[in-house]
Amino acid sequence: MFRMSFGIFTAQNHPSMYSKYQKHLQDELKGIAEAGLFKNERVITSPQGAEISVSSGQKVLNFCANNYLGLSNNPKLKEAVKQALDSHGYGMSSVRFICGTTDLHKKLEEKIAEFFGTEDTILYAACFDANGGVFEPLMGEEDAIISDSLNHASIIDGVRLCKAQRYRYANADMADLEEKLKEAQAQRFRLIVTDGVFSMDGNVAPLDKIYELANKYDAMIMVDESHSAGVVGQTGRGVTELYKLKGKVEIITGTLGKAFGGAIGGFTTGKKEVIDMLRQRSRPYLFSNSIPPSVAAAGIKMVEMMSETNELQDKLHENTAYFSEKMIQAGFDCKPTQSAIIAVMLYDAKLSQDLAARLLEEGIYVIGFYYPVVPKGQARIRVQISAAHERAHLDKAIAAFTKVGKEMGIIK
Ligand SMILES: *Cc1c(COP(=O)(O)O)cnc(C)c1O
Repeated sequence: MFRMSFGIFTAQNHPSMYSKYQKHLQDELKGIAEAGLFKNERVITSPQGAEISVSSGQKVLNFCANNYLGLSNNPKLKEAVKQALDSHGYGMSSVRFICGTTDLHKKLEEKIAEFFGTEDTILYAACFDANGGVFEPLMGEEDAIISDSLNHASIIDGVRLCKAQRYRYANADMADLEEKLKEAQAQRFRLIVTDGVFSMDGNVAPLDKIYELANKYDAMIMVDESHSAGVVGQTGRGVTELYKLKGKVEIITGTLGKAFGGAIGGFTTGKKEVIDMLRQRSRPYLFSNSIPPSVAAAGIKMVEMMSETNELQDKLHENTAYFSEKMIQAGFDCKPTQSAIIAVMLYDAKLSQDLAARLLEEGIYVIGFYYPVVPKGQARIRVQISAAHERAHLDKAIAAFTKVGKEMGIIK
């Protein structure tokens, strides 16, 4: 009886607010669609890989996944997951500090530290959480965070949650960074923050120069290796390997969701006391669930595989060099890359969308990006290369780009 009257009460009072709000949302959504910014999702019906099936039934070659090492459907990782499911079960039902830590979580943390040459590691549910939870416990009002203008959204959000003074320097612009470091001399502690690879251009942060400036102006460094771990550096140890600075930066964040198997999970790795403090005070760590033990087991296996052989990194580097060389030969305007991201510049938003649509008809899945994801007049197609791509896949994509590019008057 009571329940029923409660139901009537809400039914009478609640909808009028929602009907106004619903109208508001509908208008906003319409605005997004009219601006041509509505994001539609393509439904994949196969495992992630070089070749995927989509819900229309079409089979396409995938050139837009972060599956850099081709590990998303790797048999050894799947086997590690199956074994851990049997030995450690499905979920942890707990945050780490209550009862969410297994031997697998601890071992993965050690393995990641070994991989990057750091002192300790803390796992998160995602790198978004690692970045969301790294600044607030470490830097206070008296301190300065000096952040690259193209840093990932999760770094921007993490910095917002922190009381430190904020400085922003133009992307990879060392003169501007130096200016900001001078301005920040009044603060107690200084932290320079940069992505390792910038995801829209594929350029690498000039960590050698950042390191020099950090020494000159007494600052610490944090690098987000999400797009660079597994990819950059001869053995895929990221930008600290590329610039021979392994173990020299104070803080590294990264993801298990890209080159490292592509499932889920993030981490912060670096100086011991930094990690100790994050375990005490980092909110996404203290108030969010542990990653499943099976994901930790696959992570351990992944690091072991990468320590046994450099096959995947070598193949990825070869593939990337081959693809960009052939595309430039074909006449495309590609940004120079130091990662597995190749930006094929088109400058025109509509052209980027039309080209991507035509390429899909040819069986090549790529995405066109335009303002506000990239600056106005800088529209492009971002191609992401994988160690899962065979030479035939690359050749097919290059042929399709060439054919459609000529058709549309982009190349001669
Ligand atoms: C992808 C990405 C993230 C987010 O990683 P998730 O583990 O998917 O949350 C954070 N930072 C950068 C630079 C990234 O590219």
